[in-house]
Amino acid sequence: MSRWPHDDPASLAAFYGDPAKDEPGRQLVPVIPPFQMYYEGQPVKQIQFHRKAAGALKAALEEIWEHYGRDQAKLDALRISHYSGAYNHRLIRGSADRWSNHAYGAAIDLDAEHNGFNTGHGTMPQPVIDAFKRQGALWGGDYRGRTDPMHFEFCSREPIARPLALVGDVQADGDSDGQGDPDVDQAPQGSPPGPSPSATGFFSRARNWIVGAASGVGFGGLGALTDWQIAVALFAFIFLSVVCTVTFVICFFGAEPVRVWVRKHVA
Ligand SMILES: [Zn+2]
Repeated sequence: MSRWPHDDPASLAAFYGDPAKDEPGRQLVPVIPPFQMYYEGQPVKQIQFHRKAAGALKAALEEIWEHYGRDQAKLDALRISHYSGAYNHRLIRGSADRWSNHAYGAAIDLDAEHNGFNTGHGTMPQPVIDAFKRQGALWGGDYRGRTDPMHFEFCSREPIARPLALVGDVQADGDSDGQGDPDVDQAPQGSPPGPSPSATGFFSRARNWIVGAASGVGFGGLGALTDWQIAVALFAFIFLSVVCTVTFVICFFGAEPVRVWVRKHVA
């Protein structure tokens, strides 16, 4: 049983507060990292984090500091000291209504530059991953579908008893996102801008469904596909289906009757 809330909007809001009412924003406390961290080259004095998860964040950073022998140069060389954002009052990119876990003050990004979207496990060192997991955090590098290796969050995806109709709400990578700071607005690397938020949501869902179905029969690699690639594949499939149907009808009935039918019903 995890000490963290399940990764769905109701459980997160019950534990951390509702971002729509700015409740998490009023429960932030400063976490002072045990080693020097930098945000875009500037020294970071403190990280604002939700009071309920601040102790766990501090413990993970302490473990990392101890693991590397309290050696700042080592942490700098591995870029663990490159902080890329934590609390951020914003929605998940591409979602019209779902808050990012950064909006709960319960997620942190490290070294975004080398651990962007869809870079597999990125360059995140295993001892860092282990330190966060020991605190019960989830790591974005583990997500099915689009990975987000810069990202650690204090929530759980252990199965909980819930009505069947709600199961589809939790997407494989529903809360992963590119970055956690309002000042930086980088698009996820490698995927062209989507058509519109709602269309992106649809393709996200389609992608998660296809990836989920495929990984169920042993094709986990499909997880690397972007929404955009899934959209192209879907359109190609629909287009080919239409062409095949039309070809079949023409072969079966002959061209002339089809032309007559089209003239009568369509033109
Ligand atoms: Zn993040």
